[in-house]
Amino acid sequence: MNVYDGQRIAAMLTARGMTQTDNIPDADIIILNTCAVRAKATDKVFSALGRIRTEKKPDALMGIVGCVARESGADAFRRVPELNFVLGPQSYHKLPEILENPDTRLLNIDLGGLEKFDSMPQMEKSPRVAYIPIQEGCNHCCTYCIVPYTRGREISRPFDDVIHDTTHAANTGAIEICFLGQNVNGYKYTSPAGKIYRLSDLIHAAAHMDTIKRIRFTSSYPTEMTDDLIDMFRTEPKLLPFLNMPIQSGSSNVLTKMNRPYTLDLYIDIVDKIKHARPDVQISSDFIVGFPGESDDDFNQTLEIARRIKYINSFSFKYSPRPHTAAALMPNQIPEKIKSERLYKLDALLNEIQREFNESCVDKVMPCLLEGPDKTGRHLVYRTPYMQQCIVDSANNSAPEMADIKITAANKASLRGEILGASEF
Ligand code: SAH
Repeated sequence: MNVYDGQRIAAMLTARGMTQTDNIPDADIIILNTCAVRAKATDKVFSALGRIRTEKKPDALMGIVGCVARESGADAFRRVPELNFVLGPQSYHKLPEILENPDTRLLNIDLGGLEKFDSMPQMEKSPRVAYIPIQEGCNHCCTYCIVPYTRGREISRPFDDVIHDTTHAANTGAIEICFLGQNVNGYKYTSPAGKIYRLSDLIHAAAHMDTIKRIRFTSSYPTEMTDDLIDMFRTEPKLLPFLNMPIQSGSSNVLTKMNRPYTLDLYIDIVDKIKHARPDVQISSDFIVGFPGESDDDFNQTLEIARRIKYINSFSFKYSPRPHTAAALMPNQIPEKIKSERLYKLDALLNEIQREFNESCVDKVMPCLLEGPDKTGRHLVYRTPYMQQCIVDSANNSAPEMADIKITAANKASLRGEILGASEF
């Protein structure tokens, strides 16, 4: 989501004649697009600002946008007096105001809903992977999560607006569409005529666009996997066989305290239904270890579910108490040392499962999407349908954007392969 927000901000400033630079001393305006989901991410913003203020041109404008802006508000100006603007995740389209009045301070952390989508220019050319936000905010109120506070209540964008953006992306270079939302599978838009649109309608429409070869969506809430959506895995071959569906914990006890009121049985049933619709689907998850009150037994249940579902490509985090959240005030906060030990154990298991899955891909042929050259410039990086990185030897300029690749080797983090030819898909 932040990658998307960053692209829109870049497009907005490019349309005003600005160009991008990675070199701080060259910049006339410096924008930190921020994440507040864990304390560490917020701390990094302020340490980066401390560094940047000594490196930047004295008259360069500097500010933060996104969730840390919303979390800190005016306090950010107190912490870093050189800041010129603090704009929340739903008001970054107001950025040009600071260019017009560079001597003022601009603060806007309102939750203005969908205004930003309509008041900013489209990117002229879409990246190969087009992120299309279909929703803002989240209504789930998981007790650990700051997102409902920073991004507000859940609002689904009008179906026609999403289709408009998707069509524009498809006509300007997109090959893969990634629909975005904090609770993406809860997308629900009722038109003025009373027709209800769901995520399955969006997938169906995108699948009919010729230039689009791959579709995915993130992040999904387990109990919002409705039957119409699960059915898409059966009927739309362009939908990738890969789904991020965070379970967070394998203990029903902890899940209740997290205010994620699904049972493990229900979660497993949903996974089974999806695999029934398309047997080659693989699931990834987010995990939080060391949630307040998590016992050794609770944690062992997380290891157990990870083994059982065989998650690939997961993300795991130590619980981080956040302002405006209920869990920050809960008793029995877990000591840092125990959180670190648990994270280490869980990561070791997830890595082992991922390596096993990667090894099972060797000798298979997969349709993969070109990402670009690797750091050395000697190899090309492709993405498999499971979003694994696949490295191909030739850095040939005529390499197909969608290629059938035979996987020749695997390790924990990536695959190696040979291009057999352009993918017919
Ligand atoms: N709404 C999305 C993304 C939320 S943030 C979703 O449900 O997936 C991404 C991940 O960060 C979450 O899934 C969760 O695993 C993790 N996370 C959120 N709040 C956290 C906290 N306070 N401490 C540690 N990890 C957290």
